[in-house]
Amino acid sequence: MRKIDYIVIHHSATLDGETFSWEAIRKYHIETLKWRDIGYNFGIEKYQGKTFILAGRDISEIPAHTSGLNTNSIGICVVGNYDNEILDLDKKQTLLFLLKTLMYLLDLSPERVIGHREYYVLTQLNLADKRYLSENIKTCPGVNFPMHEIRETLSKKFKVKNSNLFKVLQSFDREFLAKRKVFWV
Ligand SMILES: [Zn+2]
Repeated sequence: MRKIDYIVIHHSATLDGETFSWEAIRKYHIETLKWRDIGYNFGIEKYQGKTFILAGRDISEIPAHTSGLNTNSIGICVVGNYDNEILDLDKKQTLLFLLKTLMYLLDLSPERVIGHREYYVLTQLNLADKRYLSENIKTCPGVNFPMHEIRETLSKKFKVKNSNLFKVLQSFDREFLAKRKVFWV
């Protein structure tokens, strides 16, 4: 089993609704991008009012979701566009359930759960390669996605191991959410 240091959260930047998008994402990754399978390890999607956790690439295999961090991470895609929508309670709780399960199994602490845009923070702390920064400068998982709240919730169940990383991520995200109207347009 490969070593997993981070769980990275993404959004699909598409509308979640009455049809399953997961297989369309898989099809796009395989047929258009010519990847061997869908890039993410897990998906979270709402279908006819119910929220599902969907299987992507096996976690023992290297995923394709964040350049510079694929070999040592797991990628979760929450279907929806959180630049426009707010993450609903159902999906938030399903995501927390999945995160807690993975954190327990892989012995990961809350500061190891990041949003795609927070790759930037890792480069600032020399924890990730700056060469991939341009590929990872995005709002993903969306300007409304509450990464600080998710990590805060996780920190009540799981011990923070790198408190500096936790602190920097939390303040980056608060700032990010506060400045979102002007920061990334
Ligand atoms: Zn992303």
